[in-house]
Amino acid sequence: MSEVIHAPEPALEEQGPKRISHWIGGEIVPGESGRSGPVYNPATGEQTGVVDFAAREEVDRAVAVAREAFPAWRALSLSKRSDLFFRIRGLVHEHREDIARFLTLEHGKVLSDALGEVARGLEVIDHACGIPTLLQGRFTEQASTGIDVYSIRQPLGVCAGITPFNFPAMVPMWMWAPALASGNTFVLKPSEKDPSASLFVAELLQEAGVPDGVFNVVMGDKVAVDSLLEHPDVAGISFVGSTPIARYIYETGAAHGKRVQALGGAKNHMIVLPDADVDMAADAAVSAAYGSAGERCMAVSVVVAVGDVGDRLVEAIQERLPKLKIGSGLDPASEMGPLVTRDHRDKVASYIESGSEQGAKVVADGRELEVDGDGFFLGVSLLDEVTPEMDAYRDEIFGPVLSVVRVGTYDEAVRLANENPYGNGVAIYTRDGGAARQFQFEVEAGMVGINVPIPVPVAYYSFGGWKASLFGDSHVYGPEGINFYTRGKVVTSRWPDPATSVVDLGFPQTR
Ligand code: NAD
Repeated sequence: MSEVIHAPEPALEEQGPKRISHWIGGEIVPGESGRSGPVYNPATGEQTGVVDFAAREEVDRAVAVAREAFPAWRALSLSKRSDLFFRIRGLVHEHREDIARFLTLEHGKVLSDALGEVARGLEVIDHACGIPTLLQGRFTEQASTGIDVYSIRQPLGVCAGITPFNFPAMVPMWMWAPALASGNTFVLKPSEKDPSASLFVAELLQEAGVPDGVFNVVMGDKVAVDSLLEHPDVAGISFVGSTPIARYIYETGAAHGKRVQALGGAKNHMIVLPDADVDMAADAAVSAAYGSAGERCMAVSVVVAVGDVGDRLVEAIQERLPKLKIGSGLDPASEMGPLVTRDHRDKVASYIESGSEQGAKVVADGRELEVDGDGFFLGVSLLDEVTPEMDAYRDEIFGPVLSVVRVGTYDEAVRLANENPYGNGVAIYTRDGGAARQFQFEVEAGMVGINVPIPVPVAYYSFGGWKASLFGDSHVYGPEGINFYTRGKVVTSRWPDPATSVVDLGFPQTR
């Protein structure tokens, strides 16, 4: 029987499977459903944890606690909330290496990349420190004679976040930071594949002084998610994950009267025009395709080579591949780690096979990578002469497989990107300012990079795709994140002035 842990210690990988439970009302609550799932160290293939899966009753308990904590939390002054966020910021920064280590041990990404993830999450916490300014309303004096009008934004109540495996710390921060700063209380349902970082962060929030019940974590699968989607006391749902589940979350949450933002999958195109700096484009393609083993929703998975740049570009990408260092994320020399699970590794590898069968040229085959042990490693793969009908092009592979599609003209390249059902990120490599501007004008995607391969917006803008990459109206974090977690109220006010008071049954008009 594995033991229930309180503060998860980053060095636990040596101690056999640990039990990972819920965080409700400021304490670890062992699950009682009798259901659980395995957590692995992807670099060794070893099972390091057992995560409890919440039953509906456990989710109900977390929501009830969050609901109870809401009135006092929303009444806390903005200056005190901002103070708390500065403390949270300090603690997350101080423990960034501990958090990164959890990510490497359960997700597999290399430590430097995990630290980058925490740094990008911290940006969103930084932004939340400015909550007094972010919640500023507008005021109109004398809108009508003796009447002032002003707008305020108020929290929704209990909000929930459901997050994917690939950013176990940053994506939850995209949600809980603006949600809590705006005065909501929160229930997080992290990915069951790498849940430990969320518990560690829960303890940091408590240490910072966030009152018990304001932030809760329920572990689990579809049962926990459905319980949140259907719960009458959950007012808002943020989701990040794959497109089929995002669509389901949006439809089910909306059918239960909730505000929903659901970010889905991606197939990000990087268009390289003939005038581009080929070395710069190749460096960018390799970094953006294989970083985090391609398990990023903003990874470049398709390079669109325009005109005669194709041969030069494929050659430049190919010559960089043997130099990449693939190994355990804890080894400082590693640039790319394993995939998250064995099943996922095998599924990703199947696209090299199907690509080859369907006519693509396999320039590099990641299955040839030789590694010791049972880790979920796959080397980097490059498929050339991919066409839009092939599975490797149509599906979101979410692994270190880069496809190159060759087209004749800029127009064909843009049409390809625009006809793709996804519209998360997109990039263009060119020295031609006019072409880049035209691209920005007409490309159908939410985040555009001009000579920038992974254009994840800074925290004071908002993150979100178009088309099948986002369901709902709001992007996450930044101004749209604050809007999502608040609702507007407009107050029209007059102070009593007996001298002007009359009975008037007409419809109020400005005077
Ligand atoms: P996933 O959709 O399998 O899981 C996401 C969350 O949904 C998890 O918490 C999971 O427990 C839950 N879930 C899974 N199946 C469910 C079901 N049937 N019903 C209810 N809940 C369910 O995604 P993943 O594999 O964890 O993450 C990878 C995906 O996330 C990729 O498609 C990637 O593009 C996407 N992603 C998108 C963004 C973005 O910003 N658009 C960011 C990161 C990841």
